[in-house]
Amino acid sequence: MPANSPDAFPPAQFDLIAFCDDCGHSAPIDRVRIPPGLTIPELPARLRCTACGGRACSMRIVYTGAAATGTAERAWTRQDRSFGQAANRLA
Ligand SMILES: [Zn+2]
Repeated sequence: MPANSPDAFPPAQFDLIAFCDDCGHSAPIDRVRIPPGLTIPELPARLRCTACGGRACSMRIVYTGAAATGTAERAWTRQDRSFGQAANRLA
């Protein structure tokens, strides 16, 4: 797996957060909608703001592993949340 693949940042330990440069909106990126093979540097160009529709988006990778270390229950909760967002991310 390439080091710049989103898969190199497991959801249990990292959140991918998109930021809109136009309106300041931010939201977690729904990983299930990231096309296979897309690399981290290519990702911002594929994003569109769900608040204002702008395409001037940037992205940050946020380490959450310290808070998420632990139970399988917690891992499932995070995964469910990700699926729940499938409708409106990565337009
Ligand atoms: Zn926006």
